[in-house]
Amino acid sequence: KEIQFKAFIQKLVSDLSEIAQSKNVKIEVDIPENVKIKTDEKMIHAIMKNLIDNAIKYNKEGGKVTVTFKELKNEVEISVCDTGIGIPKSHIPFIFERFYRVERSRSRKLGGTGLGLSIVKLATERLNGKVEVESEEGKGTCFKIYLPK
Ligand code: ATP
Ligand code: MG
Repeated sequence: KEIQFKAFIQKLVSDLSEIAQSKNVKIEVDIPENVKIKTDEKMIHAIMKNLIDNAIKYNKEGGKVTVTFKELKNEVEISVCDTGIGIPKSHIPFIFERFYRVERSRSRKLGGTGLGLSIVKLATERLNGKVEVESEEGKGTCFKIYLPK
């Protein structure tokens, strides 16, 4: 199915606006007006919902989330970056495992079950794509999704 990507993300962002507002987190959608992607809508929805949800949840009060889209040669790059607490390097290899959470006490307070990123990984693989993460503790995190064109 062809998805009008900017409108699709704007709808998702508005669905998450309540939790964003409760932390005073601003979400910037940096996607060109005319971008259409041809993919499975349920899969891309699961990916983007979980990434943006995390980017808000693990952000700082007054922080920022940026969603961008870039067209590369053979694939598209979708990134979700935040100005949040970051992920310690030693935990990065495990965050895509089911039920894995970086810090139990911190995470328990925020709710959730630790399934989000395992869904992101499975759904991305289902779309023949890949996911990358870069993070700096105390500064923020970027998740990048690459999907074949
Ligand atoms: P759920 O997504 O099921 O509600 P969750 O958010 O805890 O629960 P995941 O989305 O799988 O689970 O994330 C796993 C863990 O990785 C989180 O508990 C958190 O510690 C860490 N994490 C994920 N995204 C971020 C992020 N953007 N910034 C900092 N830490 C993150
Ligand atoms: Mg999550």
